[in-house]
Amino acid sequence: MKGRKLLMIPGPIEFDPAVMEAMGAATTSHVAPDFIEAFGQALERMRQVWLAPDGQPFIVAGSGTLAMDLAAANLVEPGDRALVINTGYFSDRMASILERYGATVDHLRAPVGDRPATKDVERALGQADYKITAITHVDTSTAVLADVENWTRLSRQAGSLTIVDGVCSVAGEVLRQQAWGVDVALTASQKAVGVPPGLALLVAGSRAMDAFRQRRYPVANYYADWNNWLPIMEAYEARRPSYFGTPAVNLVAALNVSLGQILVEGMEARFERHYRMGRAVKAAVAALGMGQVPLRDEVAAHTLTAPRYPEGVDSSLLGHIKAAGVIVAGGLHPAIKTEYFRIGHMGVTNVGDVLATIGAIEQGLVAAGYDFEPGAGLAAAQALLVD
Ligand code: PMP
Repeated sequence: MKGRKLLMIPGPIEFDPAVMEAMGAATTSHVAPDFIEAFGQALERMRQVWLAPDGQPFIVAGSGTLAMDLAAANLVEPGDRALVINTGYFSDRMASILERYGATVDHLRAPVGDRPATKDVERALGQADYKITAITHVDTSTAVLADVENWTRLSRQAGSLTIVDGVCSVAGEVLRQQAWGVDVALTASQKAVGVPPGLALLVAGSRAMDAFRQRRYPVANYYADWNNWLPIMEAYEARRPSYFGTPAVNLVAALNVSLGQILVEGMEARFERHYRMGRAVKAAVAALGMGQVPLRDEVAAHTLTAPRYPEGVDSSLLGHIKAAGVIVAGGLHPAIKTEYFRIGHMGVTNVGDVLATIGAIEQGLVAAGYDFEPGAGLAAAQALLVD
């Protein structure tokens, strides 16, 4: 029996063998010519993946929370006001980080599983002079998808800088940083970007860099300070050796491989593939008689799905799904934690993985004693996956 399980949580995900090969290669010096080339190329490729041709990319060792910290530490000054369009757990985290650097934060909330209406965003933005508007593109705790394009337009009209937490969206959900006017789009390596955990990734647009250059106070976080990292990014891109903090050499090499693969697939094809996988999993979940945390299709993400346990089934289902070969994740949002689970489907996840996962969920539901017609979920997914 095959021992290894399929990892279908919303990050870390399954990784491509070529990416893992780069991870396992002999570690080189951070100023070795081949590493300088890989780092420089990864920065150039980030601009293409983020669809931000004029943006300033940053690659720093750390998790997604560090990417949030980088954005907040460099843009917030004591006394600034920030609006957090709050769609769940990770929006709360962003608010805490903004506050830590001295911002006064207002929240625009929606009920769990929903997102604020555009007219409410517009009204909220008119209520104060917000230097920053923070949006969580996909809140991984609820699988709710934000309307980044429209909210960013409104934020820009109101003179606010828009920070998008794209940890569960970049390279999966449609995100056109420059065309939409997003000032900072950040993520981490372990989700749709397709690299093991350990890199904080961020692209800052020209307005964000200008705001950073015009700061009145020093950045309150030494490690996160762009004054330390900007010369390093510029040096690697110019293929010159440099040093501030030792980069995560193997992870950066792996990132360059993964970004190369992403660009070979092409951003539009990649967005379409994630859309299709997301719809297929949701159709399967519905066909199995399970509800979902997002209240409506149009507010549901495509990089993960958050099914509610059906009547009579609890979190022991996850163990049964695992016994059938697939690892999915439990609930995360504190208000509904025990009521749902989460399936990640991003990065190199393919049609076969999606079908294997639905099959394992069906096996798990049978083991949990749930009354349904086995095969119904697979058929619903298959109907959307075959051409
Ligand atoms: N934001 C979102 C939307 C996330 O999903 C996560 C991680 N699940 C984070 C931020 C934090 O990232 P990390 O766990 O890598 O620090």
